[in-house]
Amino acid sequence: MKKTLVFIVILALCAGLCGCGKGPFESGGEGIEIVTTVFPAYDFAREIAGERAKVTLLVPPGSEAHSFEPTPQDIIRVQNCDLLFCNGGESEAWLEEILSGLEGGISALRMLDCVEALAEELKEGMQSAGEAHEHEAHEEHEEHEPEYDEHVWTSPVNAALICQALCRRLCEIDPAGAAVYEANCAAYVKALEDLDGAFRRVLDHSVRRTLIFADRFPVRYFVEEYGLDYFAAFPGCADDAEPSAKTVAFLIDRVREENVPAVFYIEFSNEKMANIICEDTGCKKLLFHSCHNVTARQLQNGVSYLELMRGNVESLKEALG
Ligand SMILES: [Zn+2]
Repeated sequence: MKKTLVFIVILALCAGLCGCGKGPFESGGEGIEIVTTVFPAYDFAREIAGERAKVTLLVPPGSEAHSFEPTPQDIIRVQNCDLLFCNGGESEAWLEEILSGLEGGISALRMLDCVEALAEELKEGMQSAGEAHEHEAHEEHEEHEPEYDEHVWTSPVNAALICQALCRRLCEIDPAGAAVYEANCAAYVKALEDLDGAFRRVLDHSVRRTLIFADRFPVRYFVEEYGLDYFAAFPGCADDAEPSAKTVAFLIDRVREENVPAVFYIEFSNEKMANIICEDTGCKKLLFHSCHNVTARQLQNGVSYLELMRGNVESLKEALG
């Protein structure tokens, strides 16, 4: 008992020393202040603005983006920034609340507004949050506008559109830096086009067209872009990822039917569903990083969207091969 207490105290001290309460992660640049919410926005802003901006990532690394609640300091940061570069959509309703409360308003750019948004999809076999509520949810949906899938950045083509929109906005906010933003953007879009080409080459050389996600499915924009089909255990933003027997059975049938060599799990997954399916079918599990969220260590080491997506190129090669 005593030992446990001492351990907890040490842990708490370490957490304090490691700066877990220090506030949001910031890039090294100086100049205008860009506040971002999710990792892809942070990474794109850093790429396009370069040294001309201090970019802040509001949602702490490794934390659940869908249930984020801002601190009073976060709200002040948003109020005082030159540009709020965020995701938009249901998960960021808290942000819209802050924005609507601001007099005069601030410059905000939502990634969801930079591309053609797709409605959320509940695909065959997908386990929705509590089957019992399904009916209710459907009725509600008929009255309200459709909910959009928020994970727009998972298509590299979308990522390029988002970066170009960001570049235009930065040129307006900081005209003196226009040449820098445009050069950074051109170089980055070129890298995104190379990434897109790498995915297309994998598809040119593979026989399969179906991905099986033994996990949440936050990459609808990705499969739409490349004309892939998919089966998945849970919707992209589901908070419940506990496998039900019905979902497991459905996906195991799909693995056997399509004879796939590998199923996918996503970052920060408990991998439970993937483990069960792999044990039963003998297939492999592979990480598909949705780039939604990274660890503090990855951030400190300068992890990038491009690097994570290149990892996905390799995973895809194996799963579709
Ligand atoms: Zn999400």
